[in-house]
Amino acid sequence: MSINNVYQPTAENLARAAEAIKSGKLVSFPTDTVYGLGANVYNAQAVANIFKAKERPLFDPLISHIAEIDFLPEYVETDSRVMDLARHFWPGPLTFVLKRKDNNPSIDLACAGLGSLAVRMPNHPVALALIKQSGVPIVAPSANKFKTVSPTTAQHVQDSLGDKVDMILEGGACKIGVETTIIDLTGKQVTILRAGGLAREDLEDFLGEKVLINDTSSSRPTAPGQLLKHYAPKLPLRINVEEKDVKEDEFFIAFGTTKRQANINLSKKGDLCEAAANLFAAFVRSRSQFVCCFKRG
Ligand code: AMP
Ligand code: MG
Repeated sequence: MSINNVYQPTAENLARAAEAIKSGKLVSFPTDTVYGLGANVYNAQAVANIFKAKERPLFDPLISHIAEIDFLPEYVETDSRVMDLARHFWPGPLTFVLKRKDNNPSIDLACAGLGSLAVRMPNHPVALALIKQSGVPIVAPSANKFKTVSPTTAQHVQDSLGDKVDMILEGGACKIGVETTIIDLTGKQVTILRAGGLAREDLEDFLGEKVLINDTSSSRPTAPGQLLKHYAPKLPLRINVEEKDVKEDEFFIAFGTTKRQANINLSKKGDLCEAAANLFAAFVRSRSQFVCCFKRG
């Protein structure tokens, strides 16, 4: 039995939770849709711990939660349509997929290395207070194991991930109880990538134009096939080569201790979470260089 990690959202506990987020720990908190499992987006190790706790595949990107609309242009590429949508529908169950700014490579893992980033503002006082006090965007997928039912009470989180989180903030039962509607705003045409708590008609009424629904998961930009293509190195990729097989002109991405000098070592101590945190940055570096080689870990 794990210890009970559920805390009332008092000023003291919120301050403690914000410190936990800042220092790279995981905090579960209520939102308008479901309970989230939160981490500091700029801390790749903390983000990797989310994937590990949820047993979520690394190619499935996370949504960043922010507390102030004015922060949006600092974080992602925006235009007047984006800002108008934000002012109208936020805080609420609507997530935007927007183009990333190039200046923040530390969020590679949260974005699964895509050139776009998902962001939203949740409509829940506890979530907003936590994000504000943490001073960073908080990535927060639902606080449950991958492919299991999303949690709508603190007790659900305690039951499934209680031993994986530092704190669970109590916020009552979530009002909406289904995931957010996700819209792609990277192109001219607004497209729903995932149906959720906000209706298509509400978007169409506000925009005064048709909103498409992209319901074929195979064409989603987050699909693993496309992700692999996104990362396709210019030269061949060799996986699980032995150290002795690495050729002089190859880019050697190692894991664990190696005799041979590696171009990048994902985790010298053989820690899978640390390796996950470094994986996308390693791909980006190697992509423009030589062949990538993984040593069998
Ligand atoms: P959730 O599991 O509710 O946190 O939502 C995460 C989902 O948001 C992912 O499974 C994707 O479907 C979607 N998503 C997150 N980031 C992106 C992105 N950059 N591009 C497209 N979809 C995204
Ligand atoms: Mg989910």
